[in-house]
Amino acid sequence: DAIIMASGSAADAIGRLSEVKDLHRIERIGAHSHIRGLGLDDSLEARYVSQGMVGQKEARRAAGIVLQMIKEGKIAGRAILLAGQPGTGKTAIAMGIAKALGEDTPFTHLSGSEIFSLEMSKTEALAQAFRRSIGVRIREESELIEGEVVELRIDRTADGAGKSGSMTLKTTEMETIYDLGAKMIDGLTKEKVTAGDIITIDRGSGKISKLGRSFARSRDYDALGPQTRFVQCPEGELQKRKEVVHTVTLHEIDVINSRSQGFLALFAGDTGEIKQEVREQINAKVAEWREEGKADIVPGVLFIDEVHMLDIECFSFLNRALEQDTAPIVIMATNRGITTIRGTDYKSPHGIPLDLLDRTLIISTSPYTEKDIKKIIEIRAEEEDVEMAEEALELLTKIGMDTSLRYSLHLITAANLVCKKRKGSSVEIPDVRRVYSLFDDIKRSTQFLVEYQQEFLF
Ligand code: ATP
Repeated sequence: DAIIMASGSAADAIGRLSEVKDLHRIERIGAHSHIRGLGLDDSLEARYVSQGMVGQKEARRAAGIVLQMIKEGKIAGRAILLAGQPGTGKTAIAMGIAKALGEDTPFTHLSGSEIFSLEMSKTEALAQAFRRSIGVRIREESELIEGEVVELRIDRTADGAGKSGSMTLKTTEMETIYDLGAKMIDGLTKEKVTAGDIITIDRGSGKISKLGRSFARSRDYDALGPQTRFVQCPEGELQKRKEVVHTVTLHEIDVINSRSQGFLALFAGDTGEIKQEVREQINAKVAEWREEGKADIVPGVLFIDEVHMLDIECFSFLNRALEQDTAPIVIMATNRGITTIRGTDYKSPHGIPLDLLDRTLIISTSPYTEKDIKKIIEIRAEEEDVEMAEEALELLTKIGMDTSLRYSLHLITAANLVCKKRKGSSVEIPDVRRVYSLFDDIKRSTQFLVEYQQEFLF
């Protein structure tokens, strides 16, 4: 039984894995870290600005219905396609769906063109992307002894920034929860707990609550859900129990169990090909854990951008993979209309074969208004802790309208650096002007090349 146990206990390996993964995630989602959900109200209508999302109301409402279907288990065998121009929030919406499904829902971003640049077969790259998008939520329980200091990590990712704080719970007769990371965990007050209390810590908000003594663990724990970590202080004796929940992906379990790769491959991001035999063993092990009530499957979101770059082989892989019982939610995105399906002579809508289109729900995104762009820039500036004068914001908005939203968002960080250099406290018009002249948007950079060519060729 080499699985998981190869290096230390499952708890050890998975614990370390969770930390590595958090790091990766923070880097990956940088540009979308302000997105915390779809921003819908109870009747699934999109609020103009909510949970970091702005405008694009129709698409967000449609995404809300998809979310409902996912929650009711009615999405199986289907895929979603987001069709719209670049920078119209396709990635943002896919991310919003993942966030709305829960903090520990895996989100994988894959670009159609990436498949061809990796040093592995196209289908292996897709297989890895699929397994990266399926979480395994593993519960572990440990016994703690009287007076022992228990370290509880709170992953406070409600703001999407992945900040985390730690807190110490002293398990002596009368206990006080100390907040050691006060700045990171707002609203956390010192609270007295006595033996017999059950304390829950919400991983999303960091909020601590006491559930009292009558809490029947077996029945109510499930209702609380895996977001909650809890500590039970049994009456009379001071033996404490701690339940820790880790969510790792199938791919990560594959990698740590792959003899030729090992744990360190995850740091390098260079995992090579994984043997089918390893995957089958992992699947069997996970099935066993599920049966024993030790683990749950958390289907995540696999976002495939530029899906028209995939070829017919990849599409047939997708078709088959969607049929499996543990499939992630596959969200594809494209900005192409009718185009050739790569690897064939046929044209089809979005370059996607008809058999896959038949099982796809299509959502279109439309260009943003000036008001939307201004609000998105404002939210991003806040997310990046950049103070900005109103006129500078207006100028960036204008630039966003004339060039692209993406370009104006890049200028926020750059303008802030220029501002800091002159020891300014908030970004002003000259800072924006300066970076606008330093960095070209695509229109200007290509225009320059066209002029340059003319000078030399004609
Ligand atoms: P592409 O087709 O080029 O990949 P896209 O349609 O996926 O583009 P995004 O990458 O989602 O566009 O959007 C560009 C940036 O604007 C990102 O930082 C994204 O988080 C932000 N953004 C886009 N739409 C919204 C929105 N409706 N609300 C808030 N932020 C948004």
